[in-house]
Amino acid sequence: MAGRIPVDEHAAFVRSLLTGLGARPTERVALADALGRITASPVESPIALPPFRNSQMDGFAVRAVDVTDAPVSLPITGEVAAAAGSPGPLAPGTAVRIMTGAPVPEGADAIVPVEDTESDGARIRILRPRAAGEYVREAGADLAAGDDVLPPGLKLASRHLAAAAASGLTELLVRERVRVAVVSTGSELVPPGSALQPGEIPDANGVALAAAVRAVGAVVVHEGRVRDDVSRLRAELDAARDAGAELVLTSGGVSMGAYEVVRETLGPLGGWVGSVAMQPGGPQATGAYRGMPVIGFPGNPVSAQLSFELFVAPTLRAIAGLPPARTERLPLAAPLTSVAGKRQFLRGRRADDGRVEVVGGPGSHLVAALAASELLIVVPEDVTSLDAGAMVDTVFL
Ligand code: AMP
Ligand code: MG
Repeated sequence: MAGRIPVDEHAAFVRSLLTGLGARPTERVALADALGRITASPVESPIALPPFRNSQMDGFAVRAVDVTDAPVSLPITGEVAAAAGSPGPLAPGTAVRIMTGAPVPEGADAIVPVEDTESDGARIRILRPRAAGEYVREAGADLAAGDDVLPPGLKLASRHLAAAAASGLTELLVRERVRVAVVSTGSELVPPGSALQPGEIPDANGVALAAAVRAVGAVVVHEGRVRDDVSRLRAELDAARDAGAELVLTSGGVSMGAYEVVRETLGPLGGWVGSVAMQPGGPQATGAYRGMPVIGFPGNPVSAQLSFELFVAPTLRAIAGLPPARTERLPLAAPLTSVAGKRQFLRGRRADDGRVEVVGGPGSHLVAALAASELLIVVPEDVTSLDAGAMVDTVFL
């Protein structure tokens, strides 16, 4: 086909179509829903951490001055458990039994761990001296009330949620995720699990592209499947728009056949449908529909997944604060050949000796081989053959 455009040029063009998605509005989400989201502002703790002076050990609260001559025996005058409220003050020359996390009585300044004591009837025998402050967790030692417990721009992991919850927070202000619609096209497609009539196949791209979208931190707001019918696809794009989609990903209908529904829909709207110098995934489309960028991938599942990974995932990852896909230069396990003028993406995996082997053939319909692979082997446009042991660029899936 004439006018095949280079992979990097298409990637740059798709990236330019997605730049508008970069400025994210903010929303409040419950802590339980905040995992993986990105904080939109500094998060202040309304309380000190710890909120009150408490014991770090199960043992006895004492005045350090009363145990400097240990071993000593002190009368036990009470007990403080966790959640004990405010205990009364500790009288000089006495000890109070205390549990981990319980408030330290006024006047006590050290905790003697239970293992450093011996029971002595109603008294307790303290075996070693203690310095003032030992095993006492001071209020605010971790964080003062009003200080920031989390910075802005942070990708929230479970440890960050622990700190937010400990601060008594229930919600966090985060960046909105990019809202994506995924639409499969093809009259042969039926929902996975349907009894197949002759010529029908289960829609693999719908579920796979939606999963790929979620894996890079965006949210799927609409999923659709349409026959090769322009009015149906337009209705689906309207539905995507109504669902708040900011980006639509389609699969199928972009090649040179007779019923290319994405081509027929985007073409009249000024979109681009053409060929990129790559294999698989040559036919590609870009356009806009009611203000939403529409990125059209070819229908073969390997092509669709690869195209997403190559053209859309890097931008969505960057917006979601995720690192880029892992790349590595690895030696080939066996020689291979490639077509001139196209960047080839072969499915591969590492053998036990660390060299990469090709999984399945170059065909873009080989979805089981895709599932058996763990990386893509990138063969540049100008390379037509490689020897065993040659170093190749790989992208981990
Ligand atoms: P197309 O890009 O529409 O010409 O489709 C290319 C090939 O991919 C055809 O064999 C289609 O049946 C197949 N295909 C298209 N869409 C899907 C899909 N969502 N799931 C599985 N296979 C598909
Ligand atoms: Mg089709």
